[in-house]
Amino acid sequence: MMRRISIFGATGSIGQNTLDLIGRRPDEFQVVALTGGRNVAQLAKDALDFNAEIAVTAHEDCYADLKQALAGSTVTVAAGEDAIVAAARRPVDWTMSAIVGAAGLPPGLAALEQGKVLALANKESLVTAGPLINATAKRYGATILPVDSEHSAVFQALIGEDKRAVERVIITASGGPFRDWPVSKLAKATLEQALNHPNWVMGQRITIDSASMFNKALEVIETKEFFGFQPDQIEVLVHPESLVHALVGFNDGALMAHLGAPDMRHAIGFALNWPERAPLPVDRLDLARVGQLRFEAPDEVRFPALRLAREVMASGGMAGAVFNAAKEIALDAFIARQIGFLDMAQVVEDTLTKMSSEPGLIDAAFNLDNVTQTDHLARVRAAELISVRNQ
Ligand code: NAD
Ligand code: MG
Repeated sequence: MMRRISIFGATGSIGQNTLDLIGRRPDEFQVVALTGGRNVAQLAKDALDFNAEIAVTAHEDCYADLKQALAGSTVTVAAGEDAIVAAARRPVDWTMSAIVGAAGLPPGLAALEQGKVLALANKESLVTAGPLINATAKRYGATILPVDSEHSAVFQALIGEDKRAVERVIITASGGPFRDWPVSKLAKATLEQALNHPNWVMGQRITIDSASMFNKALEVIETKEFFGFQPDQIEVLVHPESLVHALVGFNDGALMAHLGAPDMRHAIGFALNWPERAPLPVDRLDLARVGQLRFEAPDEVRFPALRLAREVMASGGMAGAVFNAAKEIALDAFIARQIGFLDMAQVVEDTLTKMSSEPGLIDAAFNLDNVTQTDHLARVRAAELISVRNQ
């Protein structure tokens, strides 16, 4: 039996790596839905190569181009946010959630309602609405598998273990291109410098988030939401080689580490092959050649995103939705060269402060409407703060 699969964010870095793995085993998978953004040519090519049932672009104004690129084929064409959610309701066995940002939440929830397997790369949806995602998975009997290298590593280290015996979880961070930069230099860091990641090839947004450590901050919250560990059990360790992805510490003092080449096809492939393991086309580590692995404590003064993640977890409620939304707006402003590198954390902190005084938001019930409203309001507040700064 062919497994039916859909990929949301197919044209991105995770999406393309997923298609790479699927393309190596054409007899096993039937591609149902592929979605993308403005890269219509890539989406159309993949939809044809993989004989997808439907291709969806997020943008209505890209519909005509996509329709034309797929003219004469059997691929159905659609556009817009609602069409993406509708595509997530097409019956499949396995869904890859690899849209970047909170935009991945609605299709992720729709996919969970099928009660099958959701491979979750879209960490922003867990940070924004972890309790809603977990409740939806439970209600519909769906399985969520992590597709973040650290979380896949923790998941693998926990196989066969009793979670109650876990004392702590350590997720590693490369430290990014600015690992040893002083604050004075960080303040002047440019977009080009932030995009120059030492170890991983990823989408533009997560690459900048890695440089600011916002990516790690999101991942700390992701660890809490995904595994249910307490905030004080979750540690970050800077590890410049990016070969140890995470460690799990047990109550007998044992630390179980997961090592591998920095290649997302490992975490994607693990989720694709789960609950079994199967060969994957990733480099094998030669540790004698690597020689040394370095570890350092993270610096929360130079990288305030980590401190903010702790504050968000302490606040609870919808603070995660505010944090992620403000971060997305601050990131857009940095990419547009409207604010500096360190201003991103300041904008996020100010948005959190501002919104914590708006009653009802942080404690509102976790449903998609409330989350969407909070996300929207946080974006408005963050944008206001940025325009005030720039006056
Ligand atoms: P990317 O920027 O390369 O691709 C993003 C995809 O999402 C594209 O297909 C794009 O068209 C689509 N998209 C963007 N905005 C959208 C919107 N508003 N609505 C619908 N679709 C939209 O990103 P990526 O690096 O592949 O990351 C995808 C997700 O996986 C992110 O949540 C990221 O944090 C996570 N992740 C990525 C990596 C990695 O190595 N790239 C590692 C761990 C986790
Ligand atoms: Mg990661």
